[in-house]
Amino acid sequence: MAGAAAGSVFGQAAAPVGRPRCKLVLAITVDQFRYDYLTRFRSEYTGGIARLLTQGAVFTNAFYEHTPTVTAVGHATILSGASPALSGIVGNDWWDRELNREVTSVFDPKAKTLGAPERAAASPHRLLVSSIGDEIKMSGKGESRTIGISVKDRGAILPAGRMGDAAYWFDNESGKFVSSTWYQKALPEWVESFNGRKPGEKFLGAEWKAGAVLLKKMPAKADTMFYSNMEASPFGNDLLEEFTEAAIENEKLGQHAGVDVLAVSFSCNDYVGHAEGPDSPHAHDMCVRTDAMLAKLFAFLDRKIGMRNVLVTFTADHGVAPVPEVNTARKMPGARLKDREIGAAIEEALSARYGAGKWLVQAKSPYVPYLNYELLSARRIPAGEARQVAAEAVRNLAGIARVYTKDQMIAGIAITDFVARRVHNGYYAGRGPDLVVVTEPYAMYAARGTTHGAPYHYDAQVPVILMGPGVKAGRYHRAAAVNDIAPTLATLLDVAMPSGNMGRTLDECLAY
Ligand SMILES: [Zn+2]
Repeated sequence: MAGAAAGSVFGQAAAPVGRPRCKLVLAITVDQFRYDYLTRFRSEYTGGIARLLTQGAVFTNAFYEHTPTVTAVGHATILSGASPALSGIVGNDWWDRELNREVTSVFDPKAKTLGAPERAAASPHRLLVSSIGDEIKMSGKGESRTIGISVKDRGAILPAGRMGDAAYWFDNESGKFVSSTWYQKALPEWVESFNGRKPGEKFLGAEWKAGAVLLKKMPAKADTMFYSNMEASPFGNDLLEEFTEAAIENEKLGQHAGVDVLAVSFSCNDYVGHAEGPDSPHAHDMCVRTDAMLAKLFAFLDRKIGMRNVLVTFTADHGVAPVPEVNTARKMPGARLKDREIGAAIEEALSARYGAGKWLVQAKSPYVPYLNYELLSARRIPAGEARQVAAEAVRNLAGIARVYTKDQMIAGIAITDFVARRVHNGYYAGRGPDLVVVTEPYAMYAARGTTHGAPYHYDAQVPVILMGPGVKAGRYHRAAAVNDIAPTLATLLDVAMPSGNMGRTLDECLAY
């Protein structure tokens, strides 16, 4: 018999009468959504965010406990509870010592992109740990589906875990949602049909306005320029929400014997935030529109399966720093550092000590330096000694707070404060750089706009909100970590702890 009274609460255990059954975990990530966006714009939220703030358990002091605070690393953490030291996802990209090339966190030479076979393929094969979706599947508590959706490949793939049924992301060349042969042989018919309707084209020439102020006018021709602009506007989130509704409908999410997982990551806030900064009218309006967009998604879920059966988590993959010029104008620190100075300092110091040579292997991001081991070995130079020389050179540059060497990281650095703790949690020796460089607060390697990645709280503090069956609404002020989301879900759902979980169960917000 159907109905909440006869169903189980979570899994198959008998449930007290009247308790709603969790049918779906809806894990919402908003890319680059700072915690203070909840408080600064509170009076303007009337939709989905307002609902989360009033009906959810809101953690007011929740942080990422790792650095770099970047997209892939955050998305790998949210549903696994694991930071890079255990997840192995050490950045958006890094130097792969075996392939001898730079790889993205999800690059998979063995896979193919479904829907855009010419694009570099992606999969979760570099993720070393289980996610909540994997644990639900392995628990044997009935058929369960896990789907990841995002504009970005890494935003869709990493939360869906290794056993995810599918991950879909947006290809800004074709304007289509694509996937990977890691999951399936071909795109499902509903995805082909969604793409075939070219739903993005309704935004051709559209105007993004905040009140009477025009913030952006979309190009009028459907090409890569148009689709890239869509990614940096609220229209991309709207399209993603539409695709999410189609996924719920066609994958029958929330209608299986076991608990389904739908991980959706709204990426457009990040593109806008990088270009305009957290103090811009653009970032502000993105938040207000995210509130309305989530109201639409919740209303759809309410009609389909009932929101009382949906366990919602809401967080971000990282925060963002203020634009340096905005910050210095208000007497706060702020600096733009040049990453080539780091590369030059390392090359110069090693050349002075050991003779001329190309001492770094990578062409870009020298602030995450990978030394040329072939050259070190050919000249019989101990790598540890070279790292010390390089570290000393980088330490002398302006704007640098700390430099750790790989040898220090492996031996174990002293966890003297939260910066050291986040550096420690963010390092995985098999994939990490030879030096871990920490800038001074508010200093960044970005030529324009702003960025994130530092251990400081402006990049690390994000919303953590849970709402739904088993969760007590309220404001919770005890320090929490994004890592705590996955173990709390595992506890609520009565499944095993994800293998690399570093967090704690947020038991203060559990109703039973
Ligand atoms: Zn991000």
